[in-house]
Amino acid sequence: MSELRGSVAVVTGAGRGLGRAIAEELASGGARVVVNYSRSRGPAEELVEKLKSEGMEAVAIQADVSEAGQAARLISESLEAFGGIDILVNNAGINIDKTMKKLSVEEWDRVVQVDLNSCYYTVKAALPHFIEKSSGKIINISSFVGQMGNFGQANYAAAKAGIIGFTKTAALELARYNITVNAVCPGFIETDMFAGVPENVVKEKILPRIPLGRVGKPEEVARAVRYLIVDGDYITGQTLNINGGIYM
Ligand code: NAP
Repeated sequence: MSELRGSVAVVTGAGRGLGRAIAEELASGGARVVVNYSRSRGPAEELVEKLKSEGMEAVAIQADVSEAGQAARLISESLEAFGGIDILVNNAGINIDKTMKKLSVEEWDRVVQVDLNSCYYTVKAALPHFIEKSSGKIINISSFVGQMGNFGQANYAAAKAGIIGFTKTAALELARYNITVNAVCPGFIETDMFAGVPENVVKEKILPRIPLGRVGKPEEVARAVRYLIVDGDYITGQTLNINGGIYM
């Protein structure tokens, strides 16, 4: 896809954080954007108004993508809104961090459901459309934690590692339809998800592990997503690390 203008992008969890930056990046390139949210209605609607006031096309659609029926509705309502979908970015994610000793089965299940199963649900629902038009770009947001593990994040690491395996398999199965599927693995990025980490932990335990010596910005991940979509016609099944060097 040499340019975004006129294309339609669905970004899950786009009311805030990384998803919001990705939606803004794609919209600024000319894509019409579906801003999916689960609970953040105000921020999602505010983003849509902002984009529209800048001459871009966007719509907010509520759906909890951890529920298969709602994920399918997100795709069908997106198709109704814009008449097609060209790009699907699976960004929605949560974390419930505890050592396995303290982690409950429900907390394990919830994170896997939101972070991993949702990716399958949206892809499954969008597939008939992508196959029919023989094109599509799917980006799944994983994490460096899925590549290297992290103390207190067994559920999150398993879900994010699962995304990488899912991405490679989907890439294999869908290449024949000219659909590319790639994963992006951010390192520590300044969003609400990271804001919960105490300042002394950031200073003493996190920054010293990052060769570039700082936490990343949502826009830096968003630009990588745009790269895969706009310049990535011959890239599929890959994992692009945007992590300041914390995992090599
Ligand atoms: P965040 O600021 O906490 O935002 C999470 C986003 O996910 C919100 O927009 C939220 O929407 C959405 N979401 C959560 N559950 C959802 C559901 N069931 N259905 C639909 N949307 C849902 O986190 P973030 O840092 O932007 O994270 C975005 C993605 O990047 C996640 O997949 C995360 O694992 C990954 N990531 C983040 C970092 C980091 O350091 N920040 C590093 C590596 C990977 P609502 O508010 O509407 O519920």
